[in-house]
Amino acid sequence: MTHVPFVDLRAQTRELHDELHEVFESVLSRAAYTMGPELGEFEAAFAAFCRAGYCAGVSSGTDAVRLALQAAGVGPGDEVVVPVNTFMASAEAVSHCGATPAFVDCLPGTANLDPSLLEGAITPRTKAILPVHLYGQPADMDAIGEVAARHGLAVVEDACQAHGAAYKGRPCGSLGVTAAFSFYPGKNLGALGDGGAVVTSDAAADRTVRLLRNHGEETKSVHEVVGYCNRLHNLQAGFLLAKLAHLTQWNNARCAAALRYDDLLAAVSGATPLGCRDDVQHVYHLYVVQVEGRDTVRERLGAEGVQTGIHYPAPLHLQPAYKGLGYGPGDFPVAEAMAARILSLPMFPEITLQQQECVVEQLAAAIAGGAAA
Ligand SMILES: *Cc1c(COP(=O)(O)O)cnc(C)c1O
Repeated sequence: MTHVPFVDLRAQTRELHDELHEVFESVLSRAAYTMGPELGEFEAAFAAFCRAGYCAGVSSGTDAVRLALQAAGVGPGDEVVVPVNTFMASAEAVSHCGATPAFVDCLPGTANLDPSLLEGAITPRTKAILPVHLYGQPADMDAIGEVAARHGLAVVEDACQAHGAAYKGRPCGSLGVTAAFSFYPGKNLGALGDGGAVVTSDAAADRTVRLLRNHGEETKSVHEVVGYCNRLHNLQAGFLLAKLAHLTQWNNARCAAALRYDDLLAAVSGATPLGCRDDVQHVYHLYVVQVEGRDTVRERLGAEGVQTGIHYPAPLHLQPAYKGLGYGPGDFPVAEAMAARILSLPMFPEITLQQQECVVEQLAAAIAGGAAA
């Protein structure tokens, strides 16, 4: 039985073994672990990568989304429009601001936020829209920006799955007033632990994030505001700087693998890949197909050694944590229907053609088995 993992983080670490050890030795030799030169170097490099003015390294993607919202002026009592089909952290970060998520449904083709539904979710308390570039594909930022401008709302990008993605030639991270990235190990650019960043071209927003991430301090022991302990450690910044040099090559490998999946799946009836807009650069954090009888198909794949994922099994309005918001089944029919059909196939830069052929062969067999049963 061939085993195909969902992601293979060890493949990447093997390739970078010496570089990562040098970072470790260098940080250890100086015994300076926070707010050091590695952080500044990584921030400058990642801001340039996003073609944005500033980048502030922070403790996680979840904290990055919250800080990006706070720097855009979101606070207690506000509402923020959030797609209902995303990772819990997108909405959690809104709640951490003391604000309330207002959910909207997604487009059936790409699973990204449906801009035509924004107007219906906006109230006098709405402060911002938080588009998520889901699976590595940019949301329709022009359409979203148009509605935001009409209502005087901030657009904050949740770019936690979209390092290196671009919309009409402009990189994610440069498309809203602020943008949040995650460096969780499994993301397209991952630390060796938790990490995140807020990217912006607004100097005041960048300063707010820098204050908030470090106890409200700019000058030592002067606390201008009540802040947080949300720093990105020097060790992680050093690892990320070393890995950033490889990111474009890794993203290209993901795109090549996605094209191979598209080709292989064209011959499989019953498995439909999500669509990709022709005016974006998708970076395939995840490669998602829709299948009938998903749970049975997934179980059969698992039994044959093919690991898959579901991103995400339940739209956020149906999560127990958000029961109090008053939504119910049927409120977001597109996301609810997709949640029952989506399946994330193994996707990582080092995946081989042989592994992909095995995945698609087993997928076809699992779907055919479902019809026979
Ligand atoms: C991963 C992720 C986050 C949170 O990032 P962490 O680093 O895990 O805190 C937020 N939003 C989305 C869309 C994500 O995929």
